Amino acid sequence: MRLVFLGTGTSHGVPTIDCMIDHYAHCPRGVCHKAQNDPRYRRTRTSLWVCSDGFSLLIDTSQDFRQQVLAQQVRRIDAVLYTHGHADHIYGLPDIRSYCRLQQGPIDIYGSAETIDILRRGFSYVFNPPPQVGGGIPQVREHMLDGSLLLGNLRVEPIPVVHGPLQGCYGYRLNDVAYLPDVHEIGAEAMARLQGLDLLILNCLRFRRHATHLSLEESLAYIEALRPRRSLLTHMTHDIDFEQDSALLPAGVAFAHDGLEVEA
Ligand SMILES: [Zn+2]
Ligand SMILES: [Zn+2]
Ligand SMILES: [Zn+2]
Repeated sequence: MRLVFLGTGTSHGVPTIDCMIDHYAHCPRGVCHKAQNDPRYRRTRTSLWVCSDGFSLLIDTSQDFRQQVLAQQVRRIDAVLYTHGHADHIYGLPDIRSYCRLQQGPIDIYGSAETIDILRRGFSYVFNPPPQVGGGIPQVREHMLDGSLLLGNLRVEPIPVVHGPLQGCYGYRLNDVAYLPDVHEIGAEAMARLQGLDLLILNCLRFRRHATHLSLEESLAYIEALRPRRSLLTHMTHDIDFEQDSALLPAGVAFAHDGLEVEA
């Protein structure tokens, strides 16, 4: 399968609006300033595009969905897996309407019961369309997921994770690749389902600890416990300096960046 990181930033993105407002004077590492000239420092909101055997799968529709699919020239979407219902992961949903129209049918979307409920409430015009509308409404077929399923040649397994008080948060295992972008704690049952990985893509917010995300130290501890063949870190704030901090990572671990392509 081919994986393309559509976005690797936390909910504020990088550069942040806050840093721009005060002319980058207080950006802790100067990363938002560097992002002006070096695309590896620019982080749109987190999302992953997976292509396998002709099946085009998206994980989450971020707030930056439109810029992301234009940048990576995503020409087809067969299904969307949602990790959870936070704004940075769902608010690109309206823009999948172009794919529904051109593919002439609804797109299958999957998530936990809690996530599907958030989508239904957040986008009531999509799930209960009014009789007449302008501009077009995405057509979706929603599926509550509480066990594994086959999409194309991918065995998709939801991995329940703890991500603060929000219920129904998932990471996903796709064959021997696991994607856990928003996580604070991985329980024993989830750890058991993450054995024997070729590639682990894991949340790494920043250096300091956080109530709902993993810090770099915590991410590396999980990587050491799980021993995947290789790991990529995602969902990062402006505290992570792509170039300088890469030197701190052990062999087989790297920071992802927007547009990064990986074969797995
Ligand atoms: Zn997030
Ligand atoms: Zn900044
Ligand atoms: Zn989140």
